[in-house]
Amino acid sequence: MTDAPTTLTCLLRGARQRCPACGDGKIFISYLKRAECCPVCKESFDGLDADDGPAWLTIGIVAHIVIPLLIFLEMHAALLWWQEGMIVMAATIISALALLPVSKGIFIAALWLMKKGRI
Ligand SMILES: [Zn+2]
Repeated sequence: MTDAPTTLTCLLRGARQRCPACGDGKIFISYLKRAECCPVCKESFDGLDADDGPAWLTIGIVAHIVIPLLIFLEMHAALLWWQEGMIVMAATIISALALLPVSKGIFIAALWLMKKGRI
């Protein structure tokens, strides 16, 4: 077997939404729609369905961003309730939309590694 990428390398490639096998081809053909195969190395992504896992991971991470922000605003900022709400809502939406493809890429890379018997 030639130099197979390490597990961490594959997961980091997934986080960058790149093919876990080659690291060059894109996993997604749109925001969250998985490609059938890598456009560069033709590695099949068939059956690598992450289901709800990425959403749960994203919720967990976003909560760790938004809740401290809300506590900070309550303790240190003299804002009206609706101003805090707007800030927290914007932080929630922006961080969730930014993290969801990253989470899904990591899950797809992990599923690919399991399919290959590497983890
Ligand atoms: Zn590839």
